[in-house]
Amino acid sequence: MNQLSLANGFNSADIQPVKIKLKPAQSAYLDKRVTKSQRENQRTRSQRARERLRTKEHLTRLAVGLGEVELAEKIDRCHSRLSVLTCGRHIARIIPNFTCEFRLCPDCGRRRSRKLQNKYLPAMRAFMLHNKVTPVHLVLTQTHQKENRKQSAKRIRDAFTKLQRRGFWNQHFKGGTWSLEFTKDKNGLHHTHLHIIGFRRKFFDIELLRSEWLTATGDSHVLHLKPITDIAAGLREVVKYVSKPLDIRRFGAEDLKEFLGLKNMRMFGTFGEFRNFCKDFEPSDNDAAAVGELESLARDLVEGCACPQCSEPLFDLRMSAKELPQFYEQAESSPPGEVRKSSH
Ligand SMILES: [Zn+2]
Ligand SMILES: [Zn+2]
Repeated sequence: MNQLSLANGFNSADIQPVKIKLKPAQSAYLDKRVTKSQRENQRTRSQRARERLRTKEHLTRLAVGLGEVELAEKIDRCHSRLSVLTCGRHIARIIPNFTCEFRLCPDCGRRRSRKLQNKYLPAMRAFMLHNKVTPVHLVLTQTHQKENRKQSAKRIRDAFTKLQRRGFWNQHFKGGTWSLEFTKDKNGLHHTHLHIIGFRRKFFDIELLRSEWLTATGDSHVLHLKPITDIAAGLREVVKYVSKPLDIRRFGAEDLKEFLGLKNMRMFGTFGEFRNFCKDFEPSDNDAAAVGELESLARDLVEGCACPQCSEPLFDLRMSAKELPQFYEQAESSPPGEVRKSSH
């Protein structure tokens, strides 16, 4: 009897993998992309923290190999010591000793993408309400050519500028955001994807958009479009490429060298009427709270404040970056209500 109820208990606690219904993929890479981001979402915080450490070690090694000692030291120092504001179970805030601001640093990338989300989400919500537009995620692609990342990025951005000058585009879109994603194919050719959150004025036949893209690029009609039902999730998806412009595990010394040459390239921007809207937009307190995810509220928390998630008092825990994954692990496995008391 006891065993039976125990077994039942375990069954109900089993978490079923989330199945997301997908439209048939229109090209192979998109199919992979979805499974990749699904996998990423399923990873725990401790796994993601460990991965960030590994990525940074890899980057540091590459930088040393290239003789970029200063860069290696900066990456190594970045987020190496942390002040963690926690109730023992939840983390309200992490303050790092130092941030390197290197574009490929996963810790700095996370900060950057959070900043972008906090900045643009309230504006997006207000813009949608104001203009009665609906957001879509549009991925524009290019043909693979023998060129470097810089050339490839310029080629796709130039094509997008052409597209924006066309009547069809202006009839159907009222601006949005763009971000770049760098990829490499099996033959080692670089190509760039342009991820766009477009605010759609009205429905259109996708084939028309394909032929417009073909006119703008001269050789590619390949694009993918999906409606965004949750704008916060949609924005998170596209700013991900700002923090992770490419797959760093498959990244070699040559790639790093080339990336160092891209220093001033913009990876994210706004366009069209949304661009102008953002210039004048001042978020209200309500907007800031709506961005929420406790993120913006956590900024003012200090030791002794109540944890926003469970109301237990927060305390300041100093640790090294290497200890963070284990701390996450403890927090993930401690049952609700059982709060680890401060030991200092
Ligand atoms: Zn960094
Ligand atoms: Zn808590």
